[in-house]
Amino acid sequence: MIKVFKESFGKNIIIDQPLAEYNTFGTGGRARLFIDVKTPEDLAAVVKTANKAGISYFMLGGGSNVLVSDSGYEGLVIRNCINGLKAEGTSITSGAGEELQSMVDFAAGSSLSGLEFATGIYGTVGGAVFGNAGAYGSDIGAVVESAQLVDRQGNIRTEPAEHFEFGYRYSKLKQTREFIVEVKIALKRGRREQIQAKIDEISKLRQQKLPENAKTAGCFFKNIPDPKEEFGKMAAGKLLDEVGAKDMHHGGARVYEQHANIIINDGTADTNDITELARQLKRKVMERFGIELEEEITYLGSF
Ligand SMILES: Cc1cc2nc3c(=O)[nH]c(=O)nc-3n(C[C@H](O)[C@H](O)[C@H](O)COP(=O)(O)OP(=O)(O)OC[C@H]3O[C@@H](n4cnc5c(N)ncnc54)[C@H](O)[C@@H]3O)c2cc1C
Repeated sequence: MIKVFKESFGKNIIIDQPLAEYNTFGTGGRARLFIDVKTPEDLAAVVKTANKAGISYFMLGGGSNVLVSDSGYEGLVIRNCINGLKAEGTSITSGAGEELQSMVDFAAGSSLSGLEFATGIYGTVGGAVFGNAGAYGSDIGAVVESAQLVDRQGNIRTEPAEHFEFGYRYSKLKQTREFIVEVKIALKRGRREQIQAKIDEISKLRQQKLPENAKTAGCFFKNIPDPKEEFGKMAAGKLLDEVGAKDMHHGGARVYEQHANIIINDGTADTNDITELARQLKRKVMERFGIELEEEITYLGSF
């Protein structure tokens, strides 16, 4: 298997790559194989080779929403490094490997409004589309016009927004496992100073709410649909707060004292500490409210 990849991709294939440095929790074992892809064609070739070799594969963006098993991943991790940003009229096209924040800043610099809500959301544009990342009552799905993807057979095609069936922290990619390589979003013409002011305001708000430079993946659990609540969701953090989550920890993993839905690695945690703490949190919420919390993060490897 390694030989096939070495023959096709040479030095670009890395064997036994530690993954802790590629995710924001900073935990987890190694990937048996690892490669950066910089173009859609590169990615299509990698997918075809992996299919031929019969190896499983996983796409990594910024690693800000994954929890990697301590035993690592026996397959191939493909890191999306497809970059490039361009504006055309009121649309912006971005490589899926661009940081979402770069697209927010690029939109502001192009006097285009509609992406301000995404200020401060970690990770890549592709990762945001996969999980329909959002904040403050909006999400990326609301502005996607179309996206180019590579399917599991290694074919490249473009699909309109409807293809992705965006919902709360959901896109159809969670089922099809297709990979985003380029995203086109539709915005509105705005005044640059006003857009920048909104970005600055959200930045400040997030800095107050979120731990600075902490090893975390943001909210661990999804909010719960509830039409009576603001934005139609009951905050999972509210339930967690009521079961005393903010005082809980396991090994080097602890709940952030200002936000009960955020788990932090204090620098000494392994993934097992984080999953054990998450298990305890889920159990407490189930016992008290009869509600099964669902993870917002993605697991990679065996758990
Ligand atoms: C401090 C902090 C705050 C956060 N706040 C928010 C918030 O307010 N709102 C919010 O929604 N999220 C938030 N998050 C979570 C995270 O930023 C988002 O989920 C983000 O969109 C993940 O992008 P990523 O590139 O890091 O994806 P990764 O973590 O690398 O991957 C996550 C999933 O996306 C898939 N994926 C990645 N790239 C692609 C691609 N190109 N094509 C197909 N699938 C892909 C992966 O396979 C994986 O299943 C926060 C995280 C942190 C650390």
